[in-house]
Amino acid sequence: MPIAAPRPCNHPGCGVLVRDGTGRCPKHPKKSWAPAAKETKRVTGRRLQAMRADLFKRRPLCEPCEEEGRVTLATIRDHRIPLAEGGADDPSNEQSICGPCHDKKTKAETARGVRRAWGNYRDG
Ligand SMILES: [Zn+2]
Ligand SMILES: [Zn+2]
Repeated sequence: MPIAAPRPCNHPGCGVLVRDGTGRCPKHPKKSWAPAAKETKRVTGRRLQAMRADLFKRRPLCEPCEEEGRVTLATIRDHRIPLAEGGADDPSNEQSICGPCHDKKTKAETARGVRRAWGNYRDG
């Protein structure tokens, strides 16, 4: 006896038929994207030091400030897409940012419901 009619998995681009009524195939259980499981592993140690030095050499100024016409020295290596939201910890996802902009961004992310470990987040 079928429990429920087969339906495609809700995961974008998956389409595997699911018959247990959860709407999710075994590969994509509902909580698979929870921050703890999905959070990108951070670069640390010497490699992080090198990446940060390289970033500030290329982009010494705070990028959000620059966009608004202000010239502010960046002090923090930030991630455009937060690691907690699956952003990569590499140069494609990094930006230079100043303290006040960082605080603003962090508040916005918190408002979106992003959970993060504050102590881990601040590189500098
Ligand atoms: Zn699936
Ligand atoms: Zn700024």
